[in-house]
Amino acid sequence: MNAPLIKRSFDVEAVRAQFPILERTVHGRPLVYLDNAASAQKPEAVIEAMAGAMRGAYANVHRGLHALANETTDAFEGARSTVARFINAPSPQTIVFTKSGTHAINIVAAGLDIQPGDEIVLSVMEHHSNIVPWHFLRERKGAVLKWVDIDDDGVIDPGALDDLMGPRTKLVTLSHMSNVLGVKTRADELIRLAHGKGVPVLLDGCQRVVHGHVDVQALDVDFYAFTGHKIYGPTGIGILYGKPERLAALPPFEGGGEMIDIVERERVTYNEPPHRFEAGTPPILEAIGLKAAIDWFTGQDRGAIEAHEAAIRDRAMAALRGLNWVTLHGQAADKGAIVAFSVEGAHPHDIAQILDRQGVAVRAGHHCAQPLMQRLGVTATARASFACYNRIEEVDVFIEALHKARKLLS
Ligand SMILES: *Cc1c(COP(=O)(O)O)cnc(C)c1O
Repeated sequence: MNAPLIKRSFDVEAVRAQFPILERTVHGRPLVYLDNAASAQKPEAVIEAMAGAMRGAYANVHRGLHALANETTDAFEGARSTVARFINAPSPQTIVFTKSGTHAINIVAAGLDIQPGDEIVLSVMEHHSNIVPWHFLRERKGAVLKWVDIDDDGVIDPGALDDLMGPRTKLVTLSHMSNVLGVKTRADELIRLAHGKGVPVLLDGCQRVVHGHVDVQALDVDFYAFTGHKIYGPTGIGILYGKPERLAALPPFEGGGEMIDIVERERVTYNEPPHRFEAGTPPILEAIGLKAAIDWFTGQDRGAIEAHEAAIRDRAMAALRGLNWVTLHGQAADKGAIVAFSVEGAHPHDIAQILDRQGVAVRAGHHCAQPLMQRLGVTATARASFACYNRIEEVDVFIEALHKARKLLS
């Protein structure tokens, strides 16, 4: 492995120079991309890794006895090792390549042994990807969903979680960082409580891996799901981490090539994890792209990135707090660079459209978190979400655009 050089200081312009898309304009204005929690832009290193593989070393993986198949297999399995190191998984065999964060959670949900009356505990601030697979278990197998509430900032009360777990609880599944409120879940304490009752825990880390260090062994978490496209990698790839004994106990999700051991007319046996969960040709180029993204990201000074993003978030929150026509949702102390807000008398969709005319990309809607919207007493919010390549000055462009929107809409 050629380890990337560690950069000791953070230079946002040097980072931006590596993201070609940031040079473009929209509606004649410089692009201010504040929709990173929906999907992040890609650095040249990722674009080149994927294009380079297609140009120079590409074939299907695992089944080949020729040079290109072996080179591609090495690259693909190398990506698995990189992902394992990234979240401090005990071995590459605990890392399953999926097609998305959503797919990763569905693999766990479909594999649990659920009898009518068994319970799944989840929070009200989950992404639909960490809700609907459990609804499937409710509809199809008679599972009972138990919802743990949050306070107004998105913080889960450990006592409330503890009270919800009982002898029928099969799994606790929680967001490790909310895609709406940005709050980071204090997972270690919640996991200890669940394990005290013999209940395994899944964390949805789609947002968290981008905004902080994740160590699945220190967390002692049973399953961890995340996605490639929010961490500067490609779409079409996600990760499911599972403790070896948890993955071993999970039946396959899809059937096809690669996931089998022996196939006969009246009998089939399955491969060991992780391949058991990777039916068909896996996302090869996407895995190579994800490896490049993680190498790129971990090659930056991550402490400096965190400080930079915190400064941007604080500037945005301070500015929004100063506007008596804006409501901020989620002001927890431990929060990533995501700011959800409502503007008095204006629909978030109208706000987003007017911001777009000024080059500012934000998201508006329910953010795939309708139960959270109900909890907040709104139908939708606007959301600005920041990445390492955002300039602090872009906050001011955003706030100025918001003033214009307010004027136009009132
Ligand atoms: C984006 C996101 C997902 C879904 O991930 P995909 O790879 O887009 O399917 C799930 N949970 C959270 C918290 C997310 O932000």
